Amino acid sequence: MNIIIQISYLVASILFIAGIKMLGRTKTARKGNIVSSVGMFIAVLATVVQVEAISLIDILICVLIGSTIGLVIAFKVQMTKIPEMVAMFNGFGGLASLAVALSDFWLNTQQRNLGVDTITGVSVALSIFIGGVTFTGSIIAFMKLSGKMSGRAILFKGQHLVNLILLVLSVVVAVFALTDFTNPIYIIVLGVLALSIGILVVIPIGGADMPVVISLLNSYSGMAACATGFVLNNNVLIVSGALVGASGIILTQIMCKAMNRSLANVLLGGFGQTSGGGGTSADGPQIVVKEVGVEEAAQIFDSVSSLIIVPGYGMAVAQAQHTIRELSELCEKKGVDVRFAIHPVAGRMPGHMNVLLAEANISYDKLIEMDEINDDFANTDLVFVVGANDVVNPAAKTNPNSPIFGMPVLNVEKAQTVIVSKRSMGKGYAGIENELFGADNCLMLFGDAKQTITKLVGELKEI
Ligand code: NDP
Repeated sequence: MNIIIQISYLVASILFIAGIKMLGRTKTARKGNIVSSVGMFIAVLATVVQVEAISLIDILICVLIGSTIGLVIAFKVQMTKIPEMVAMFNGFGGLASLAVALSDFWLNTQQRNLGVDTITGVSVALSIFIGGVTFTGSIIAFMKLSGKMSGRAILFKGQHLVNLILLVLSVVVAVFALTDFTNPIYIIVLGVLALSIGILVVIPIGGADMPVVISLLNSYSGMAACATGFVLNNNVLIVSGALVGASGIILTQIMCKAMNRSLANVLLGGFGQTSGGGGTSADGPQIVVKEVGVEEAAQIFDSVSSLIIVPGYGMAVAQAQHTIRELSELCEKKGVDVRFAIHPVAGRMPGHMNVLLAEANISYDKLIEMDEINDDFANTDLVFVVGANDVVNPAAKTNPNSPIFGMPVLNVEKAQTVIVSKRSMGKGYAGIENELFGADNCLMLFGDAKQTITKLVGELKEI
């Protein structure tokens, strides 16, 4: 039986790896999801057979409770709340690793009076530490993303020193826990220290740096699961945890590159602390904007031959992706060259815009990454910014005092005409003003993006 279980784990691991590879391309992504799910099903089945100590009924009850909660959340969650949900799920992954490692340690040392070998001991400590940091760090990220807590960086004097002391204390306590596991207090203190560090490392990260934190926490949840795999001696958990950990780190690197910042700079920098209070233009002159009506905007759309649409978080809020597809198809019928410019941190989670536009069946070839399209804005007749703000803010290039200075942004202001669809002069996630809106070639089309674009499509059809 053991051989069959180990072979099942191997098959599941291969399916995970193949599934992740398929997720890399839009065409194969759906299949990749199915392949990975089959792998997970095999892994769960093998684990259920392997764990003889627990009754099948107990496992089924747990699966039922977990699946019901998951299903209810998945059905109820609005599209705009998905990033917060992802942050929360990372946190629960960390909490699960912490709980499993703790219970295994407790069972062996306190109830069975067994010893713990070095590898298992180190794995227990790592699971509890990384799992704890991931859990509270993700809760803070969830609160920042959902607006339950200010998105600004929260800083206090001696913050880095406090973090360093807590880190050193954690190592010391972990060593005590492993040398004297008869006393459970050490491992509990390690858990409490990890939970505190999770809060302290995420609160100083704010504003536009949040994408880096989300992907880093995702990676941590994988590493915690991997360490728990060593605790339980479960190969499939080691492999799947390592896959999540490694892909999360790669994503973190991509996000850092997108922000033009090093990871150390993000974690230590307290980025965004000046945001929320006004940033660039709060200290500068009032921005005077030119408004455009739907009818006039439709005339402009009708007269151009090249159009770049720049989606942002507001498109997700308005759920405007389907109306945008309608608009783009209509323009194409009129002979306009239409493309979409995708900023890597647009929206509230990595790949947010790609997911929404793919959902609306917009061809992937039309979605052009920032690096590829940035030089083309200068030769473009019209740029239509839909609910994007920070990712098109020229202050990132021109104002060294801006909290987003140095972050690569889309060069939309270089186009002949820019039309911006947003509801008001509300700020973006970084909480700073955007001088693009006052530029000579920029026209503001105020209103909810979906409603406005629906009217725009109606007008364009009449022309
Ligand atoms: P922003 O958050 O900068 O701006 C969104 C804009 O959308 C707002 O200014 C808002 O203006 C407008 N808006 C909101 N609702 C609507 C609506 N119904 N119709 C039309 N417009 C609307 O978005 P960007 O995509 O430009 O930038 C993303 C920001 O989020 C960056 O700072 C990024 O760092 C950060 N972030 C990104 C994450 C990621 O992984 N991608 C994760 C966490 C943070 P108004 O209120 O006036 O309508």
